[in-house]
Amino acid sequence: MKAGIVRELAEIRVEGLPRRYPELPLKDNPVEVTDVSTPSPSRGQVLISVEACGVCYTDIDIIEGRVKCRVPVIPGHQVVGRVVEVSEGVSGVASGDRVGVAWIAWSCGVCEYCARGYENLCVDYKATGCDFDGGYAEYMVSYADYVYRLPSSVEAERLAPLMCAGSIGWRAYKLAGIQSGHRVGLFGFGSSAHIVIQVIRRLNPSVEVYVFTRSRDHAELARRLGADWVGHPSENPPRRVNVAIDFTPVGETVRRALELLERGGRLVVNAISKQTPIVLDYTSHLWMEREVKSVANVTRSDVREFINYYSQYGVDAHVQVYSLSDVNNALRDLKAARTRGAPVLRIK
Ligand SMILES: [Zn+2]
Ligand SMILES: [Zn+2]
Repeated sequence: MKAGIVRELAEIRVEGLPRRYPELPLKDNPVEVTDVSTPSPSRGQVLISVEACGVCYTDIDIIEGRVKCRVPVIPGHQVVGRVVEVSEGVSGVASGDRVGVAWIAWSCGVCEYCARGYENLCVDYKATGCDFDGGYAEYMVSYADYVYRLPSSVEAERLAPLMCAGSIGWRAYKLAGIQSGHRVGLFGFGSSAHIVIQVIRRLNPSVEVYVFTRSRDHAELARRLGADWVGHPSENPPRRVNVAIDFTPVGETVRRALELLERGGRLVVNAISKQTPIVLDYTSHLWMEREVKSVANVTRSDVREFINYYSQYGVDAHVQVYSLSDVNNALRDLKAARTRGAPVLRIK
């Protein structure tokens, strides 16, 4: 089968801190598209014929060494495909089913976090496209307990962003605790934020939403999706915000969002890693009961809840489609914020 493989991870740390991101263009063609043998499912697993796979900023974090994964690895954790083979010990999933695979590939089920429903914090957590091979490939295997039934009627590339951008956005949305009358700031407006704003508009019609982005394309999309105010991160919105969600890869945004947060406000940071340091002053950024909450990937119930939300209300997922052989361009466009909405590989 054809697959996109990352064979080595870049080492970009300097004196313990990541280098500044604008100085670091994505290494030339970090993903090698080549022929590899098709995997076969072990006990409890299914073989999936991949139709589409989203390209996520986390894939860049993996390639650039900020997220530790095994190599060689086939990245990709926003997978949509059809089950073509079912191994022994599998129930509830059958050949021919349209399914999705998300970042959570396996959790132990017995540690204190799993026992409390925080399988995203599991001490033995395994991630798709990191610990296990992912969906930048014609076929992949996944544990049947970690696949999700998806509608057959929707194009695969429109479903792919739901599996990470949408589901983790949903978790960030829930952690934000938005209440009626709140003013909400969204920092960065890529794959995840453009879905989250639609959820907020649907479920919290009384809130005001302010979007902070450096990209003109993203600003235009934000206005079309109902933002009340759109500006550059250095600009001041009409009023301070009660809740902020940070979708950006840089540390400066945390400081800026906290500057704009009301007393008692909460900032939710939707990022595995930051490429630049976060420098805070307790009195000006945190005093007055302002709080910061990170989002650590996703649980299966987050993904299921978000698929239910999607089935009920729909999401207008803006996607930019690339072929598997064009994966390196997709990554470069994503890193340069040149994509509108979510980049997705059309596999077959
Ligand atoms: Zn992702
Ligand atoms: Zn566990």
